[in-house]
Amino acid sequence: MRPGGLSATTGVVSSMAEMPAHPVSDLAAAAADSLTRANIAESDFPDNHDDEPLYAARKKIYPQHVSGTFRRLKWALLVVTLGIYYFLPFVRWDRGPNAPDQAVLIDFPGRRFYFFFIEIWPQEVYYLTGLLIIAAMALFLMNAAAGRLWCGYLCPQTVWTDLFVTVERWIEGDRREHLLRDRQPWGFERIARATLKHFCWLMIAWWTGGAWVLYFGDAPTLVRELATFKAPPVAYGFIALLTFTTYALAGWMREQVCVYMCPWPRIQAALTDEYALNVCYRYDRGEPRASLKKAAALHEHGQAAGDCIDCRQCVYVCPTGVDIRNGSNLGCIQCGLCIDACDAVMTKIGRASRLIAYDNDLNIRARQHGGQTSYRLVRTRTVLYAAIIAVVGGVMAHALATRHAQSLTVIHDRNPVFVRLSNGAVRNGYAVHIANKHRETQNFVLQVTGLAGADVETVGSDRNPEGEPIIAVGPDQTRQVRVIVTTRQPLEPDASIPLTFSIVTADGGVGATAMDRFVGP
Ligand code: SF4
Ligand code: SF4
Repeated sequence: MRPGGLSATTGVVSSMAEMPAHPVSDLAAAAADSLTRANIAESDFPDNHDDEPLYAARKKIYPQHVSGTFRRLKWALLVVTLGIYYFLPFVRWDRGPNAPDQAVLIDFPGRRFYFFFIEIWPQEVYYLTGLLIIAAMALFLMNAAAGRLWCGYLCPQTVWTDLFVTVERWIEGDRREHLLRDRQPWGFERIARATLKHFCWLMIAWWTGGAWVLYFGDAPTLVRELATFKAPPVAYGFIALLTFTTYALAGWMREQVCVYMCPWPRIQAALTDEYALNVCYRYDRGEPRASLKKAAALHEHGQAAGDCIDCRQCVYVCPTGVDIRNGSNLGCIQCGLCIDACDAVMTKIGRASRLIAYDNDLNIRARQHGGQTSYRLVRTRTVLYAAIIAVVGGVMAHALATRHAQSLTVIHDRNPVFVRLSNGAVRNGYAVHIANKHRETQNFVLQVTGLAGADVETVGSDRNPEGEPIIAVGPDQTRQVRVIVTTRQPLEPDASIPLTFSIVTADGGVGATAMDRFVGP
């Protein structure tokens, strides 16, 4: 509570309480007058931010190049992730005749998703649910173990921004050179460099959009069609959209996406706990900050000086412009580059590295008070997240390994539910869907059991010597047939008899079964 603040406010409130009703402007004037009479200026309130604008203009960030362990890790991940994204559509996978040979393909016209040896049909969309659960739990697990690992190393926004910044550095120079160049008036050289930079950015953005559409069609064919302007208009539309978003987000908006647009920093802040490791400035070691000269002077007078020499290298390399020495905050994507920068400084001046490191506040405070540090990777939440990933992954793997190459669904006619024929027989109709996931045409024998002596007819199919319907389904196709079941047997009133529909494959095994009912009058 501010001293003075309370009395000033109380004075205003009591004065205002005595006033009759007035327009707002009168009340404001009276409040200002009351402050004047009390001899208190508005500026006397230290936290008064009334005059501050609600909008803060962006300060351009010029991240400095840095080398070190985390930078190398980020290079490796950048090459792997972008390499996968750009070149995966060209990887081939032989699935035999009548099937696309692209390893990863989202085939909208054929309503299939191909992922190497896995082929997902529309009715198997629950696999996508499983994948989403695993992805969410993996994010939670990363967060519980070491903070924003996803943001710092794997998020597309981080990876593409890193690539764009690298291109910018090649063309405009490192931080200092780029800063100086930006302060100069526009001349031929500056215009030429800016033009080249934006051209390179647009080329990367264009190829990013181009690679995306290659996942939705045969990549080599689509590349030829795109080059000869024979590709579908929707492909050009998506390339244009992704070119624009990549160029805008990675080239222009950069850290603003992480700080203002992305919900994940807010969510992860609610999910974290005190044991999670995060990129931390070890203030127990670093404070009080002092340059080498000042530290020497302090030591001469018997005073302490921390290891931080206040060189600001950790701030200059930060892609989001954060000073990690002020503590963890939303802007820090935990990329670890400030660790590399500070390690280089510490090595140069002959002090121990990792003044900035993956750590947590519990350990820093423990060290401050001479206590033991502990790193608890195995905790209830990490075990829980890992267990959910294992269970969902296991269920999905089992379902994939044991799923049948054919499936059967039966839908009973709704209206009429049954028909009584003139000869007294009762008839029920069904829509039977048979999916054949084989690469060859299959002749399935349809059997209906549960109603002795019933006659089973299908529209437009042959019969085997036993009189059972044979239904041919093409490779990788679904066929719907109309099935009529008729009985002349006397039925109980309101009869509802369970029926089992089965399809028997060429090798004599039951391929799939489905249950329904035969309904009587
Ligand atoms: S403070 Fe360090 S870890 Fe955080 S974003 Fe900046 S450089 Fe990366
Ligand atoms: S790089 Fe290290 S020494 Fe330099 S200001 Fe940052 S924390 Fe201090």
